Amino acid sequence: MSGFQSPRGLRDLLEPLASAHGWVTDRAWAAADAAGYARIELPIAEESALFERAVGGTSDIVAKELYRLEPRGDDAITLALRPEATAGAVRAYIQHGMRSQPQPVRLATVAQLFRYDRPQKGRYRQFTQFDIEAIGDGGPGIDLEVIELGAAYLRELGLTDVQVHLNSVGCAACRPAYVETLRAHFTSVSQELSEVDQSRLATNPLRLLDSKEPAAVQRAASAPVITDHLCAECAAHYAAVTAGLATIGTAVLPAPRLVRGLDYYTRTAWEYLLPGEQGQQGALGGGGRYDGLVELLGGTPTPAIGFAIGIDRVVLALEARGLLPAVSGGPAIVVAGIEPDSVASRVAIAGELRAAGASARADVSTRKIGKQLEGAVRDGALAVIIVEPDGRLTLRDLVKASQAEPAERGGVIAAALRLVQNEG
Ligand code: AMP
Repeated sequence: MSGFQSPRGLRDLLEPLASAHGWVTDRAWAAADAAGYARIELPIAEESALFERAVGGTSDIVAKELYRLEPRGDDAITLALRPEATAGAVRAYIQHGMRSQPQPVRLATVAQLFRYDRPQKGRYRQFTQFDIEAIGDGGPGIDLEVIELGAAYLRELGLTDVQVHLNSVGCAACRPAYVETLRAHFTSVSQELSEVDQSRLATNPLRLLDSKEPAAVQRAASAPVITDHLCAECAAHYAAVTAGLATIGTAVLPAPRLVRGLDYYTRTAWEYLLPGEQGQQGALGGGGRYDGLVELLGGTPTPAIGFAIGIDRVVLALEARGLLPAVSGGPAIVVAGIEPDSVASRVAIAGELRAAGASARADVSTRKIGKQLEGAVRDGALAVIIVEPDGRLTLRDLVKASQAEPAERGGVIAAALRLVQNEG
């Protein structure tokens, strides 16, 4: 009989991956806490229209990859599983009147996202991002803070060779003229472009710089670069960010053809890349300024900036480099028993040990004591407490392979706690 399988692109995380994800996630929250970013937990689904408006109807994320949920009952609204976190964060900023707080409002979240994408290593249909958003400050200083926060997070995990690829994608004042220049550049070869790229040429030529199709890639190599077409304000902003990062000592590579996949980006755009990784696996995350998004979603015009780092890819990179911490093994103390009817008292003692701060479990089986001891050794326990038929306890030190005389409960529990403290 063929049983159920997890759906394609949706993974079970078993050990050691489950602990690795937890560890990388904990470090993300800690980095955000340390920098004064307030935690925010957002719903896993939003109105589909929110993503259509924020991310843009022509983006792959909305046009091809959105998981929509059928409206239920009286609720005529179509929801969608979130494909990114920024739209929800901005929706929350507006909804909760965060504009009345000191600006910028610094927010952090770790979010499970869903995109109907072709699964492969490092690309899944459910994945997790560490997201940072700073809403309400248009100056280059906050760009420096946010870019360096993500870079430092990755470096401190051990990915010390992470690179920041930096660009400016301009603003509503200067980008349209550049886009026309770009359109002209690709129009002369439009017959050679794939069907998808021809439609990109019509709707959003910037996306052609992102294309993986050979004809577009070849033509993109000689495309005009946006940093030569910025307005004075965007150019000054970009220069200030570049100079500031040099002062901080963040290594930056100018990437004049870097455009991020989403419509809402303005000015500063960047990616965190690991050199030497295969395909997309080295793309750990990216960010950008999105000065028009708050207004686009119905708020007062408010500049903002943020990044998203893919937790799954970070874990893959750490794993490939042997940088994941060892998974903590089984419990330090196992409570075994000679008589089958001592099971309840074993469970009680294990609970007492845990309450005192040790890791402990009871052997709840009725098998022979020899088998119980073998199980404790296999789990990597440091000590076993054996419940004797008369209710006294025997402490066995598995590291030294020595055993004390049976003694009263309180004394043995205290001795076991000392033992694991010294040897743990
Ligand atoms: P994006 O939101 O597309 O700019 O992606 C930001 C980061 O999220 C990427 O650099 C990846 O690390 C991660 N990411 C994006 N899509 C996926 C996916 N389908 N599976 C795993 N990680 C992803």
